[in-house]
Amino acid sequence: MNHFELRGGELFCEGVPLARLAGEVGTPLYVYSTATLERHYTVLRDALMAEGIRGEHGGEPLIAFAVKANSNLAVLKTLARLGSGADTVSEGEIRRALAAGIPAEKIVFSGVGKTEGEIAFALKSGVSEVNVESEPELELVSKVARSLGTRAVIAIRVNPDVSAGGHEKISTGKADNKFGVSFSEAERLYAKAANDAGLRPVGVTCHIGSQITDLAPMAAAFAKMRGLVERLRAEGHPVERLDLGGGLGAPYFNTPEPPPPADYARMIAQTMAGLDIAYSFEPGRMIAANAGVLVARVLHIHARPEGRKFAVLDAAMNDLIRPAMYEAYHEIVPVKPRPGAPEVYDVVGPICETGDTFTRERALPPLQAGDLVAFLTAGAYGAVMSSEYNSRRLVPEVLAKGEDWAVVRPRPTYEDMLAREAPAPWLSV
Ligand code: PLP
Repeated sequence: MNHFELRGGELFCEGVPLARLAGEVGTPLYVYSTATLERHYTVLRDALMAEGIRGEHGGEPLIAFAVKANSNLAVLKTLARLGSGADTVSEGEIRRALAAGIPAEKIVFSGVGKTEGEIAFALKSGVSEVNVESEPELELVSKVARSLGTRAVIAIRVNPDVSAGGHEKISTGKADNKFGVSFSEAERLYAKAANDAGLRPVGVTCHIGSQITDLAPMAAAFAKMRGLVERLRAEGHPVERLDLGGGLGAPYFNTPEPPPPADYARMIAQTMAGLDIAYSFEPGRMIAANAGVLVARVLHIHARPEGRKFAVLDAAMNDLIRPAMYEAYHEIVPVKPRPGAPEVYDVVGPICETGDTFTRERALPPLQAGDLVAFLTAGAYGAVMSSEYNSRRLVPEVLAKGEDWAVVRPRPTYEDMLAREAPAPWLSV
């Protein structure tokens, strides 16, 4: 469920007409809904709690929002107020989470290639745990921790070798993906870490992929994770934490409906029945995707005499790269739909790449130059992946709350864009 709906023939975000935002902020722009972010977080938390899935000391499980999905500080602050933690993959993301008021003890540091500097920053910040993805990384984390005179709290990331479905570029849980270690390696590394003066292993973690709409592969992976916890405990390790990653899908309208959080929570409760452990989760997409749209303006309709019709927008692949990168589908809705029979369009951006195509041969309500359209389900992996390719200014972001709204990342000026670069000394004369 989300809070983008047609009212009186035009699309609103909560109590704010998108056309007004487009008029005041300009297009393209991202618009996020506070109520939708809050709803998705609380629905997941409540579903987990209802199934008795708990965190440390019997409290709420740690829901560490995957910052990579949407790292805007206002979005993070909105979630922080609900008690959210953060799953981070870089020093920049840790800094963002801290700046948004997420306490360090709710921040998890993941990622296959953490640098020495990033590990040191994470440990000095006091993050909750470093999720270690390989043996060389285990050794590096230990070295950095010992140099800081501390013991790093770590979890071992396991690659459960299950196929989660979805696009191959967002599958992470197969043995040939770069993430994590096998179960046997995890046991060996856990024992190695337990004997290392720089490390304190507290648990295990997995994340098998993204946009998962079938619970079966998750259930299979989680059952294997349970087995691992039991084996480690039998070997004498007090395994305290189990991080089950993110991955639940969002509705993009062309894929099967993602399972409701209640079904996800029930599956976990059944798979883990009787296992006493503190759970954490790293959802990104299921919280943020449906809470954001990208609004763009139709620059013109280019109708070829042979019949193909291009709706050329002022948004491009640099603003929303998912269709070009993952062949992703986004529902496209006119902000003020015109009456009339649907027409078939290729919806494209202005960038000089054929890949700058949002969709081909899509039946949409009739469009004219100057119309606004909204790409739905664009709140995750949207603005975070935007760039200035073709020297287009970075797309701005707006957060709405009821009838209120604020620009939470302004569009830079061209002067800002140019001022970030410095001429080489020999070029400045
Ligand atoms: N955790 C880890 C380690 C990830 O790599 C990702 C996504 O790539 C996530 C969590 C978030 O995934 P999703 O947005 O599908 O929930």
